Amino acid sequence: MLKHNLGYPRMGAARQLKKACEQYWQGRIGRSELFVTAKRLQEEHWQLQQQAGMDLIPCNDFSFYDHVLDMSLLLGAVPDRYAPVVTDVPGNAEIDLYFAMARGYQQHGLDITAMEMTKWFDTNYHYIVPEFTANQQFRIISNKVFNAFDAARHTTGTIPKPVLIGPVSYLLLGKEKERGFHRISLLEKLLPVYIEVLQKLQEAGAVWVQLDEPFLAMDLSEAEAAAFRNAYAEIARKCKGLKLMIATYFEGLRDNIQLAVNLPVCCLHLDLTRAPHQLEAVLAAMPPKTSLSLGVVDGRNIWKNDYERSLSHIRKAVAVLGEDRVMIAPGCSLLHSPADLSLETALDPEMRSWMAFAKQKLHEVYELDAIVAGNTALLEANSVAIAGRRTSARIHVPAVKQRTQAITDADAARLSAFPERQRVQTEKLRLPLLPTTTIGSFPQTDEVRQLRAQFRKGAITAEQYDAAIEEVTLSAIRWQEEVGLDVLVHGEFERNDMVEYFGEMLDGFVFTQNGWVQSYGSRCVKPPVIYGDVSRPRDMTVRWTQFAQAQTELPMKAMLTGPVTILQWSFVRDDQPRSETTYQIALAIRDEVQALERAGIGIIQIDEPAIREGLPLRRADREAYLHWAVRAFRVAACGVKDETQIHTHMCYSEFNDIIEHIAAMDADVITIETSRSQMELLEAFAGFRYPNEIGPGVYDIHSPRVPGVEEMTALLRRAAQLLPVRNLWVNPDCGLKTRKWPETKAALENMVAAAREARVLF
Ligand code: GLN
Ligand code: ZN
Repeated sequence: MLKHNLGYPRMGAARQLKKACEQYWQGRIGRSELFVTAKRLQEEHWQLQQQAGMDLIPCNDFSFYDHVLDMSLLLGAVPDRYAPVVTDVPGNAEIDLYFAMARGYQQHGLDITAMEMTKWFDTNYHYIVPEFTANQQFRIISNKVFNAFDAARHTTGTIPKPVLIGPVSYLLLGKEKERGFHRISLLEKLLPVYIEVLQKLQEAGAVWVQLDEPFLAMDLSEAEAAAFRNAYAEIARKCKGLKLMIATYFEGLRDNIQLAVNLPVCCLHLDLTRAPHQLEAVLAAMPPKTSLSLGVVDGRNIWKNDYERSLSHIRKAVAVLGEDRVMIAPGCSLLHSPADLSLETALDPEMRSWMAFAKQKLHEVYELDAIVAGNTALLEANSVAIAGRRTSARIHVPAVKQRTQAITDADAARLSAFPERQRVQTEKLRLPLLPTTTIGSFPQTDEVRQLRAQFRKGAITAEQYDAAIEEVTLSAIRWQEEVGLDVLVHGEFERNDMVEYFGEMLDGFVFTQNGWVQSYGSRCVKPPVIYGDVSRPRDMTVRWTQFAQAQTELPMKAMLTGPVTILQWSFVRDDQPRSETTYQIALAIRDEVQALERAGIGIIQIDEPAIREGLPLRRADREAYLHWAVRAFRVAACGVKDETQIHTHMCYSEFNDIIEHIAAMDADVITIETSRSQMELLEAFAGFRYPNEIGPGVYDIHSPRVPGVEEMTALLRRAAQLLPVRNLWVNPDCGLKTRKWPETKAALENMVAAAREARVLF
C-alpha cells in the first residue's frame, strides 16, 4: 500500500511563516528573507514527511497566504484592479501582487480593496474567493507549483506529488462579479490552462498529481456533475501517462458515488474519518483499474487514531481491490491540525497520550501500514491508549451524562409565550421606545491586555488585578451612563476570548500551548480541547456582573457565550455525538443563567454567533443539526422566570434560509449584524413576521469610521418600515473590543442621538 499525505500545515511549529509574513508586510524584512523562511519551512516539512515514511510527499500545498489564491495566480485570474501594483510601483514583484489581492493595497498612492474571503467548507480556515467576469481569461502566470516540484524533488530525492485544486472545485469556489453567466460555464476556457499545467508538470518529471475536488462530496446540480465528467474526460485525453488522484474530503460521496468512481483517473481519495459508511458502496461501484486512497486519520481533530477502526476499513478495501489498489492517508489535508504534539510539555501526560497532531498523524499512517505488514505490537500499544481514553474517569462523569439524558421539553421552553413575557418585562424594565445598548465588549486597550498578562504571569496579585479590572469596568459604566445608554454592559475587560474564558472555568476542557491552526493568512487560532464530560464547578460570570450591576441604577446586561459557539470554536470529542457535547455545555450555561438571575441580574445575553457556521455541508443533514442546536440554546436560556429578559447575539450571518429556526430560539431580544447590508439582512425577519424583539446593528464595528447621526436614523427608519417599532432596539453590529475608545465614544454618542431623534420622529 502506498502511504501518502494530502497536505501539511504551513506555518511551522513556532509559527515562523506568520512572523515572516507580518514582518515583510511591515517592511521590516525584505523579499529574500521572506523566501528563505518559506524555503526552510518547506524543506523541513518535506524531510519530516519523508522520515515519517510517506511514499508520496505533497508539494505546492505550502502557501504564503492561501492555496485558493495560489490557484488564482497560477491560472492568471487576477482582477484588473490589481494591475497597477506591478505596473506602477517599481520594485514590486509577483509576491506583492499576491499579497495585494489577499490584503488590499494602500501604498504608493494606490488604494485597492482586497478580494473577498470566506470559510473553507465547514472548517475555520478562510480562503480568498476567486473573482470571475463573463469574458474571464486564464493563462499561466506563476511558476510556484513548478518551482515547488523541483525543490521538493531536490530535497527528498523522490518524485513528489504536486497538489492543485481541481478545475471544477476551483470554479465553484469562486464568485461571478458580473450578471448574466454562471462560473461553471468558464470551464471550457479554463481547461486548456489546467491541461497545460499538468503537461508541464509531466514534462518536469511528475508521476502523480493530486487534484482536490471537495465539491464531489457536496450537493451537486446536474450541470456541475456534467462539468466533472467533461473536465476529467478532456484531461484524461490530453494527459496520458500522468497519474491523477482526485481528493474528496469533509463529506461522503453519497449520491455522487457513480459520478466519482467513473471519472477517468488513477485514484480516488475518500475521507473515511468524516464519512466511514461510504466505503462499502464505493467498493461495490469501483471500476476494474482505479485505486482507492483511504483517508483514515482525522485531519480535523487532535485525537489519536483508533487503529482497530482504521484497520477494519483497510482490510475491507484490500479484500475487494487487493493491496496494489489501496493507498492510505489522513482524511484531509493536515492544514487543519496543529503541528507537533511533542511540544506540549505542559500537557498532562495522560491527556497527551490520547492525542496526535500533524506530525504524529503521519506516524499513524506509517504504523497502520506496518500493522498490515505484520507488526502486531503496534496495534496492541494503540489499543491500550484507546481503551484508556474510552474508560477514563477523567472523561466520563456519570452524573453529567444522566443530566443530559434527563433533559425534558419543559427544560427547553420558557414558562410563558413571548407576548406574556414581553408584557411583564416591559412593566419591570420600563425602558424607552427603541432602547439603546451594546453587544458586550468595550475596547481592549493595551493597558487591559497587560493587566491580564501580568496576572497570568504572577507579576501582580489577584487583589491588584481585581482592583484594576474594577476600575476600568467602573469607568466604562460611568461613561455609558453619561452618554445615555439604556441597558449597560460591564465591558468584558476580564476576558481574553469569548470561548477560552468559559473553557478555562468549565470541567472537561484543556488548553494547549502551541496547538495553533491557520484561520486566514497569517492569523492562527488556538482552539480549546473538549476532552471530557462538561460541567460547571462554580459560578463563572456572577462576580463581575454583580459588581457591575451594583455600580448603577440602570439595568446591567450579563454576557455569556452559547453552547453551540463554544462547541464550534473548540476541538471536540470524537467519542460522542456533537449534540451530546453541546447539551452538556448547555446545561452548564443554564446553571450560570440561573445563578445570574438569583444574583439579581434581570437581562442576560447568550451569544451564538457560530450557529450558522455549524450548518452541515449537505442540505439533507441541516434540519437535524438545526433542531439540536436550537434546542441546546433553549436549554441554556429557558431556566428563568418570565421577567428575566434573555438576549442573544448573532453576527456574520445570513438568515433567509434559517429564519424559522432563529425564531424557534425564542430569545426575548436578538441583536444582529445588519449595517453593512443597509438592513437587507433584516428582510428575512420582516418576511417571517418575526415576533420577538430585535436590535439590527446600526453601525459597522469592523472599521474605525464614526457614523453620523443621520446615517443611523436612516437605518432605523428602514428598520421601522420592516418591523413594529415597539420591537426594535438600537445597538452596534457587534462587540467593540477591537476598536479604540475615541471612535467608540463618538460613535455611541451619535447612536444615542439617533435613537432619541427616532423616538420623536417615528
Ligand atoms: N459579547 C461579545 C462581544 O461583544 C460578542 C462577540 C461576537 O459576537 N463575536 O465581544
Ligand atoms: Zn458579533
